[in-house]
Amino acid sequence: MSSRKPVIAGNWKMNTTPAEGRELAAAIAAGSKNHPGVEVIICPPFTGLAQAADAVSGSAVEVGAQNVSSEESGAFTGEVSVSMLAGLATHVIVGHSERRAMYCETDEAVAAKAVTAHATGLTPILCVGEDLETRKSGDAVAAVRGQLRASLDGYTGWGSLLVAYEPVWAIGTGAAASPQQAQEIVGELRQELSSLAGADAAEAIRILYGGSVNATNIGPFIDRPDVDGALVGGASLKPDEFLRIVEMTARLY
Ligand code: PEP
Repeated sequence: MSSRKPVIAGNWKMNTTPAEGRELAAAIAAGSKNHPGVEVIICPPFTGLAQAADAVSGSAVEVGAQNVSSEESGAFTGEVSVSMLAGLATHVIVGHSERRAMYCETDEAVAAKAVTAHATGLTPILCVGEDLETRKSGDAVAAVRGQLRASLDGYTGWGSLLVAYEPVWAIGTGAAASPQQAQEIVGELRQELSSLAGADAAEAIRILYGGSVNATNIGPFIDRPDVDGALVGGASLKPDEFLRIVEMTARLY
């Protein structure tokens, strides 16, 4: 646990119709208002951003997109630019492992998205994490530090950045990393941020853990000195479960 304000962010992935998202967002806004000490962000799919933003307006809940183009406009069928997110989102996930693995997003592409997002006032939620093979080979620390550095190439918006350590083998598997494993890598990421941005900036950046977080296992992650919250996938679709994660986090801070 640190003095940084904790963040609980929900990644809804490719789930929820606009109407379902409105309902989920409204439930989260209502349930999290008793926990002002926790920053709550929801990341609906593009098609539900407007409804979710409307449902949380007047509350402290923030809205993030799950992806963004690094291009401003033009012949990029199916893509969404930063200016198209204006008024709908304050944050954007970049470099989620599903995008890296299934849509071939390279560190270079992720860095371009982060830079473009920051330039237009969006806060990137930058995801990094090793796959199972890398973990087994004992190279996780070097791999994830390298991924972070490369995914922040050209980035200067240190006051507006969230990082999420999401080991690929823990996402959606029900097999979360241990809190010790999370702390080890997150501590290394903070050192890497320190070498990129300076010690003071690195100390202020919130670094989240993500990978099969739920209301039962969140506590020991939050207890670690460098882990400042969680990026939550599956459990973020269940309002009661997600709100229990928020509540547990509030209680521990
Ligand atoms: C995610 O999609 O970022 C994630 C962490 O998913 P889950 O919580 O379901 O493992």
